[in-house]
Amino acid sequence: MKLRNTVVAGVFAVASLVLQAQPPSPITPEIAQRVDALVSKMSLDDKLTLIGGIDNFYTQPIDSIGLKRLKMSDASVGVRTFGQDTAYTASVALAASWDPALAERIGSALGDDARARGVHFLLGPGVNIYRSPLNGRNMEYLGEDPYLAGRMATSFIHGVQNKGVAATVKHYAANNSEYDRHRINSIIDERTLREIYLPAFEMAVKDGQVAAVMDSYNLVNGEHATQNGHLNNEILKKEWGFKGVLMSDWDATYDGVAAANGGLDLEMPYAKLMTRETLKAALAKGSLKMATLDDKVRRILLIAARFGWLDRDQWDTSIPLNNMQNDLVALDEARESITLLKNDKKLLPLDASKMKSIAIIGPEAAEVVAGGGGSSNTTPFFADSYVAGFAKYLGEPVKVYYTPSAPDVQQLVSRTHFQKMTVELRKGSETGKVVSTQNVRAISTSARDGGVSFDNPGKGQSYYTWKGEYTSDISSPYLVMVSAPDADGYRVLINGEEVIQHAAGNHYRSGHQRLDYGKAHLQKGVPAKVEVIYNTENASPRIGVAILPEDEMVPVESRRIIQNADAVLVAVGFDKSSEGEGFDRTYTMPGPQNELIQQVAALNPKTVVAITAGGAVETAPWIDKVSAVLTNYYPGQEGARALAEVLFGARSPEGHLPFSWERVLADNPASAHYAEEPGDGRAVHYAEGLFLGYRYYTSMNKQPLFAFGHGLSYTSFAYSHLNVKRNSDDDVEVSFDVENKGSRPGATVAQVYVGEDAPKVKRPTMELKQFQKVRLKVGEKQHVVLHLNRRAFQYYDVSKKDWTLDSGRFTISLGEASDQILAKASVTM
Ligand code: BGC
Repeated sequence: MKLRNTVVAGVFAVASLVLQAQPPSPITPEIAQRVDALVSKMSLDDKLTLIGGIDNFYTQPIDSIGLKRLKMSDASVGVRTFGQDTAYTASVALAASWDPALAERIGSALGDDARARGVHFLLGPGVNIYRSPLNGRNMEYLGEDPYLAGRMATSFIHGVQNKGVAATVKHYAANNSEYDRHRINSIIDERTLREIYLPAFEMAVKDGQVAAVMDSYNLVNGEHATQNGHLNNEILKKEWGFKGVLMSDWDATYDGVAAANGGLDLEMPYAKLMTRETLKAALAKGSLKMATLDDKVRRILLIAARFGWLDRDQWDTSIPLNNMQNDLVALDEARESITLLKNDKKLLPLDASKMKSIAIIGPEAAEVVAGGGGSSNTTPFFADSYVAGFAKYLGEPVKVYYTPSAPDVQQLVSRTHFQKMTVELRKGSETGKVVSTQNVRAISTSARDGGVSFDNPGKGQSYYTWKGEYTSDISSPYLVMVSAPDADGYRVLINGEEVIQHAAGNHYRSGHQRLDYGKAHLQKGVPAKVEVIYNTENASPRIGVAILPEDEMVPVESRRIIQNADAVLVAVGFDKSSEGEGFDRTYTMPGPQNELIQQVAALNPKTVVAITAGGAVETAPWIDKVSAVLTNYYPGQEGARALAEVLFGARSPEGHLPFSWERVLADNPASAHYAEEPGDGRAVHYAEGLFLGYRYYTSMNKQPLFAFGHGLSYTSFAYSHLNVKRNSDDDVEVSFDVENKGSRPGATVAQVYVGEDAPKVKRPTMELKQFQKVRLKVGEKQHVVLHLNRRAFQYYDVSKKDWTLDSGRFTISLGEASDQILAKASVTM
């Protein structure tokens, strides 16, 4: 408890350093005139200069009007572009809090962090819909439901912008995977686009008054987002009335004139295609109008004027870079987002007063894994691993034992010695002419491991074939592991039986190092025949093969520690090298983590699994063998403390899943349509349409492993007196009581779903349209009143090109999860 007191005292000392609100001004006639006057003073070159960035994260200064350069930074997890910053949780974790007030606090904290660094544009929030767990950037987004994402984004934007910093909602639009992101063509029907993929952007614009929007890399229905007139001009600017700046993602412009006409206002990170030369020529030819250019310039200046950037310094040196108050905000965010998925036999909370020790094991036990990889990754000023954070939290009375699991695969490769092993290199095909042969002791392309090092394998496809023997010390099941780039192909045969197979050319995660494993039973002293065939186009190939007795996943010394501990935490999941921007991830956690969990659970029944991931992961091999499972997504710098508080019952877990968690990947309704279709079109048909996530599961009466909205607590809540009253078509009042019936304080998320009983068009059975986080003391009761507007009942009518409300009966479902509906009522519209 000592630590907490120190933090609170620190906050008291810095409280006065927080910036007062400096919200953007509305567009007044004075501001409009001021902007017009500035535009009229600018030369053509000035205008063309302003619409292209510079130095990666700036716009260019325009001396003739005294405009300084405007600074940008990524974004939602931390103001990370200019050195260290407070690392908040991943955005998907923020969505799991279902707490818009928290989202606003995060936004404000980031606003202060931005002002402490002179940042004008914060490049977040990200609101792309979670379509598949494979998307490498799910952790940067706000889950599968457009309404939840929209509400959280809107509050986040208010928080940021009230500090005089422009938020940038991204990536517009239909950017729901990372592989091949510059070329992928998302084919989506208009209704699905409007009802699933656009509403969070629409809410950010209309309710959040977001200052900037970032166009995505991909194509949408055949046209790159940066030049997609339908998305940018018709929908965003005309229909939604967006008055801010539409910028490109970094290097997401593919045709300068098409982008200029297609609605793009600012090319980032520099004018690569919307160049002076290209646009001047287009102006001269009449293929670009001066009014179109002026509109871009006006939009940038309008934001600068409204946010006060023309009149004050954006850099507020009174705010510390390492803002202790924001450490507490990050802690609250981690506390509110941890989601307890399973808690059989009430294993949790653990009672520290009755414990002498806890063992922590797994790849994330002693490493700080605050965030995923890519442009959101933030380096905090400080952060504790679970081992360090738990030790600090528990102090002397409960010992924290860290026990390493199997050594990392790279080390194992050099320790796995083969006999009579030769490797042959062929070019062009598996059966081609052998160009070189070597004798080796390890199966590796690194000489350091004792592997092969062909001087120059040369360009084009290379085929490596290793053949030899492995003699085991014991009779046992063995794990056979391969680490190689995902784009490469490999097969491993033990005694003629294929134990691992991976085809080359998987562009989902190309270039990314992947870890595969299989199993083989080996007899003590009997040499097993080993054959590995590997093909790669890479001139510096990177394969390594390791063999380990299954039992040694958890070494003997560790077993003793695990067996003797009063409880074990297995910290598993992804990290920035296995989940991040620019590549997609696997559904299975990297390496033999499923094995590790099973072995630990077999040793100690009080095993708790904590998963770090931006979405669902494969749990099938072990989910029935462990009692307690939770996810903290990517928990930011305060993850260890927040997890310790939850595990030991200082707080009840409050997070609720912002996505559906499937039993097996194939259950995900988008799975069959996730990969690009064959051919050059790079098309991905969003054939599941509206029936994504819980919309699919509830409409088809199917049960996922963990449903959207699911999250357990240590206390229990009773819902009663649901009452639905239609005041008008634009105001349906939903009221109910919630009471904490358990023996601990806690929070629930009241979720209100709407479904049309007999729709004329096909509609999901239920859709989230309101929610409220309710925090209650023991025995406390609260009356909750929520309002549903017209949009909550409408669907997008493609023929009318508008939202439509058909009269009829609607069912209002109230619950604590999409599969935990506690009360229903009807309303006729
Ligand atoms: C990402 C954006 C990010 C930008 C600047 C791009 O690669 O897609 O989300 O804001 O880089 O770092």
